Amino acid sequence: MIVVLNTYPVIISRDLVFVSKENALWPTTARMGASVEALERITPETVGQVMSMMETGNLSQVSVMNGNMDELYSVRNDATGYDERVLFSLVRSAISNKEDKFRSFFSDGAFMSYSSCPIMSGDQVVGAVCVYEYDETEGRIVLGIRDDMLNISLGLGIAAILVSFILSKTMTYRLKRVLDGIKNVREGEYTYRVAVSGHDELTQLSDEFNSLTDRLQKTEEIRRRFVADASHELKTPLAAIRLLSDSILETDNMDAETVKEFVTGIREESERLGRTTGQLLALTKLDNAAATVRVDVDCCEVANRVLGTLKPIAERAGVTVRAELDANVHIMASSDELFQIIYNLVENAIKYNRPGGSVSLTVRRESEKVRITVEDTGIGIPEEDLPYIFDRFYRVEKSRDRDEGGTGLGLSIVKSTADRHGGEVTAEKRSEGGMRFVVSFPAYIQGKT
Ligand code: ADP
Repeated sequence: MIVVLNTYPVIISRDLVFVSKENALWPTTARMGASVEALERITPETVGQVMSMMETGNLSQVSVMNGNMDELYSVRNDATGYDERVLFSLVRSAISNKEDKFRSFFSDGAFMSYSSCPIMSGDQVVGAVCVYEYDETEGRIVLGIRDDMLNISLGLGIAAILVSFILSKTMTYRLKRVLDGIKNVREGEYTYRVAVSGHDELTQLSDEFNSLTDRLQKTEEIRRRFVADASHELKTPLAAIRLLSDSILETDNMDAETVKEFVTGIREESERLGRTTGQLLALTKLDNAAATVRVDVDCCEVANRVLGTLKPIAERAGVTVRAELDANVHIMASSDELFQIIYNLVENAIKYNRPGGSVSLTVRRESEKVRITVEDTGIGIPEEDLPYIFDRFYRVEKSRDRDEGGTGLGLSIVKSTADRHGGEVTAEKRSEGGMRFVVSFPAYIQGKT
């Protein structure tokens, strides 16, 4: 690039000077040729006379030759750069080809220009005029342009090197900040955020990285809380089992009734442990599983199965279960997972009900949606607890719900499962008391994809 910048303008200005030299020398040469042609007899004396009347001061040399290339007239003002061979070759060419000739050279900071024209007598060539000009002034201008270009390009080169050095240093520094961020986050420092100024792709990259770290931080917090909650939930029944068994072992002559009571307690606690671990496993499966194979599920059939399974529990609790199930309501889901959703909601509606209360399960298709509603006349959930009931291990009244055998995982399983199938779950208090849970899914309409 710098080489082009240096040579191209010099070549162009040199060629321009060549053209201007030709334009300037040719009329002078032609005028001299015409003056000699006008002579009656061409002899050294007559040519000398006519040439002495011509203006030759700015020319370095003027020569007039006859057809045999013998010199008839010659005046030399300045011999610098003069090359006799060039002059002779131009004169020879003018005589033998009957045409004007021009040659110009640029060397050592000067222009050396030769111009020749034939002297005609009728159709015959009887000689030639040749002029030579040595010009340093325009040579200096061209050299000046070359030097200026060299200085400019050197300046530009140094500036380019400086700018690219500064740019690469800045880039390296900014990249290092991103890399530091990646390293810190990789080592578990999820609060670390990358601060890169600017408006380029690197800034976008660090913004993306920061939002990824945000998500990682949230996921990590949820994971930690989950592990802490899970171990707490497992520790409580284990501690109760240990306490009960220690009491049996350490008490001499414990009466049979107390032993039975303690062993029943141990059994209940171990059942609760089993339920908690079972539900934890179900949740872990929901978290990790790749998308389950979804098939056309008949909601009515699944709802009837749930009702059949929970019938004995409802009877034992003295709760009436009513169902209103629209026929031909289908969704794309996994039958087992839909069963789990309806089961958990109806089981809660029975569990948190009052003797003599009722539960109603409706399955309806409303245009493009399927709505599954579970309502009860039970104890309800206080308004302030509603936002948290889908959180893992959240119980409204810790001790009482534990007595009911609850794990605090049922509703979070409902929510995770519904989410996986593009569904939504909402919970609200009924104005007449009790709760209403609604799960809605996109309806599957046969023949429509
Ligand atoms: P659990 O296994 O303890 O029932 P869930 O996640 O199913 O856990 O429910 C979370 C909490 O929400 C329960 O502890 C209970 O207090 C409350 N809850 C759930 N469903 C109902 C309902 N239909 N009526 C009243 N309270 C409910």
